[in-house]
Amino acid sequence: GKWVYTFGDGKAEGAGGMRNLLGGKGANLAEMANLGLPVPPGFTITTEVCTAFYENNKAYPSELAGEVTNALSHVAKLTGRIFGDDQNPLLVSVRSGARASMPGMMDTVLNLGLNDTTVLALAKNADDERFAYDSYRRFIQMYSNVVLGIEHHHFEEILEHYKESKGFVLDTDLSAADWQVIITGYKKQVQDTLGHPFPQDPQEQLWGAIGAVFGSWMNARAITYRRLHDIPASWGTAVTVQAMVFGNMGDTSATGVAFTRNPSTGVKELYGEFLINAQGEDVVAGIRTPQNITEEARIGAGSDKPSMETALPEVFAEFVRTTNLLEKHYRDMQDMEFTVERGKLWMLQTRNGKRTGKASLRIAVDMANEGLITKEEAVGRVDPASLDQLLHPTIDPKAELTIVATGLPASPGAASGEIVFTSDEAEHLKSAGHKVILVRVETSPEDIHGMHASEGILTTRGGMTSHAAVVARGMGKPCVSGAGSVRVDYAQGTMTASGVTFKKGDMITIDGGTGQVIKGATQMLQPELSGEFAVLMEWADKARRMNVRANAETPQDARVARKFGAEGIGLCRTEHMFFESDRIVAVREMILAENEAGRRAALAKLLPIQRGDFAELFEIMSGLPVTIRLLDPPLHEFLPQTEAEIAEVAKSLDVSAERLKHRAAELHEFNPMLGFRGCRLAIAFPEIAEMQARAIFEGAVEAKKKTGQTVQPEVMVPLIVSKAEFDLVKDRIDAMAKLVAEETGETIPYKVGTMIETPRAALRAGEIAETAEFFSFGTNDLTQTCLGISRDDAGSFLGTYTAKGILPNDPFVSIDQEGVGELVKIGVSRGRETRDAIKLGICGEHGGDPSSIGFCEKVGLDYVSCSPFRVPIARLAAAQAAL
Ligand code: PEP
Ligand code: MG
Repeated sequence: GKWVYTFGDGKAEGAGGMRNLLGGKGANLAEMANLGLPVPPGFTITTEVCTAFYENNKAYPSELAGEVTNALSHVAKLTGRIFGDDQNPLLVSVRSGARASMPGMMDTVLNLGLNDTTVLALAKNADDERFAYDSYRRFIQMYSNVVLGIEHHHFEEILEHYKESKGFVLDTDLSAADWQVIITGYKKQVQDTLGHPFPQDPQEQLWGAIGAVFGSWMNARAITYRRLHDIPASWGTAVTVQAMVFGNMGDTSATGVAFTRNPSTGVKELYGEFLINAQGEDVVAGIRTPQNITEEARIGAGSDKPSMETALPEVFAEFVRTTNLLEKHYRDMQDMEFTVERGKLWMLQTRNGKRTGKASLRIAVDMANEGLITKEEAVGRVDPASLDQLLHPTIDPKAELTIVATGLPASPGAASGEIVFTSDEAEHLKSAGHKVILVRVETSPEDIHGMHASEGILTTRGGMTSHAAVVARGMGKPCVSGAGSVRVDYAQGTMTASGVTFKKGDMITIDGGTGQVIKGATQMLQPELSGEFAVLMEWADKARRMNVRANAETPQDARVARKFGAEGIGLCRTEHMFFESDRIVAVREMILAENEAGRRAALAKLLPIQRGDFAELFEIMSGLPVTIRLLDPPLHEFLPQTEAEIAEVAKSLDVSAERLKHRAAELHEFNPMLGFRGCRLAIAFPEIAEMQARAIFEGAVEAKKKTGQTVQPEVMVPLIVSKAEFDLVKDRIDAMAKLVAEETGETIPYKVGTMIETPRAALRAGEIAETAEFFSFGTNDLTQTCLGISRDDAGSFLGTYTAKGILPNDPFVSIDQEGVGELVKIGVSRGRETRDAIKLGICGEHGGDPSSIGFCEKVGLDYVSCSPFRVPIARLAAAQAAL
């Protein structure tokens, strides 16, 4: 095989399309060379060498040494310098480069080829002794660190001690003679640590660096990174060896990094920084303050250091032409590294630049409008998950705030809620319809359920990459982390900040964009949905096949859903409406009644309330379909907890508290999620389903009369396992529809369908579809019942499962395509076989997960339904799935 590919002087053996073989860096260098751009000549050792190396007990292919020698001669011819030569030495950089950029691997060794002899030649040829010794000491330190494994601080200490002893402050205070002393110290450090001297032979240096790159492919950090990002070990890394160019050869030399567009805002402007008389590492090291590239940026930043535009005007002009050419060529925003050596520009790297969600959106839309990419490509360019950052409410700048603490802005968006101190509390209150902010010293994987249940998360410890920050960003929830001035007292259930003591249940607001913690609830501004966002959404809507609906029950959620473009409600969980203070007592009466008459009395109180809720929902959704699910959860979730609550219900039921407690105990279940819930409630207590059906149809009539618009109720039966169950409940619903039509003189067209959320329902979908007019896959319960993993208790072991690779990811977040997905496919095909026009959707959490949405497209669902804030994400993901 061919193991080495050369590039330089307007030609390359490789090309941009050869990423798999040459790695990202090697492929892009070859591409730039082919474009005729000024790239220092060099060569890339392929990823296949890496693979062969590990397959053959860490031995290189036998031809490799010869190919490297030939490639070095090629570089020598192009540069007029010879590797290891004592008169005119060629110096090289050695870099790793996998297909995908991979932190954790050996990155770069610069100035390789320097030794006690070649340094003299470098000094002579550059006519700069100080520069040569400075380069040599940098090389010894870098090589010793990344290849020989000696920690940086040893070298830094030697330098610091020397500077102190001489009274120097800056590195620039050191002369060539000073650097020579340092070099002696560095070499001694290597000898003392390793028991052998720093390698003087350039060939030994080169093969040492190549070996270090391949070795780093299997270091622990790289392995972890690959596991987290699904990168197979078999990809391997390439090694690029390239002639050195020097940005530290005086005032006409420089080095820098730049983006063709602003990576945080997306604005079309050359954005970046550079340093005169510096080597690449100096820019990122942050020791000197870098200078702006353009004059406009310099003025904007108020900097008094000259921009590249004024300091090196001719090079700047060439650089601008080059960056424009690269962006046009790659048809994407480029992130570039460059060096100027004595007035000559050299391009060292280009790649598609990383960017924020906001920039990603702006760049995609701008580029399509500029004609650089198509609208479809623009739709494909934006990661749906990144929209999350843009879709959250922010605090109204006009609101008066009492800021009690400031932590780190760990995850964007602002949220208000009642303080809770444990994740169980968060979950409990959330299911009771409250909005909560989870306040913890720090969070751990055991808090995932609580974080899910919260509007936002506040921690007093931990940084931007703490568990809370990372997980919150993943969930798209606002988070303030590391608010160190906040004192949490779990035992007392209090939190103190700026002298104010908050109790559990008190309202606070957090702003994950600024890190502020604010007393009380505040006025919020809803996210800006115009501009590029609206444009991209419009393009996405044209491209997608599936409809997108929302899971919503409150008027507030329904309004947000509509604003985000929901095309209906795919799941209204009626039980969420039962916790409001004006009805919970009646709900409890209904549950705790000892007979049908008692239940009916309570239901009569609930009827007008539910009717009003539904009428409002229909009105907000103005003509769009609204799927309302009959009561689903285990009844005990509604039971009174405190003595006061028990007394209140006992009084209105006119029974003793003792008797009420006894009745509550009777309702206790060992396994409530597999117990008395779902359609089982409607079958045992048909009067509950009847009341809800009446409320739905009467509400529909009311909304129709009020608005004059059509109303499309879809009544949904939860958790069935058989057609018999479904039919029994459907008969009641149909009868009620007829009755309401007779009573009101208004006929409302409606559908009755079912959730498919048990394996048996999926398997029996063929016959269920004989009477069911739609299916909505409830993949939360379907995952729970298919895997036999409790959705409420999975937290304690699921992490271990994903860490060990038993499950690729949390099946409650991203659908388990092989198992649960198989049941969905069976449900789809058997359902359609019976009823061609059956409407099929999904309303589990997966309906808002981009990769699960891709699956839904593949199996041909008609719509996905997800929480209101995820609607735009789903619209974009559905478009990408369809493209
Ligand atoms: C489901 O099970 O997927 C579903 C949407 O219902 P719930 O989450 O309310 O059980
Ligand atoms: Mg369910």
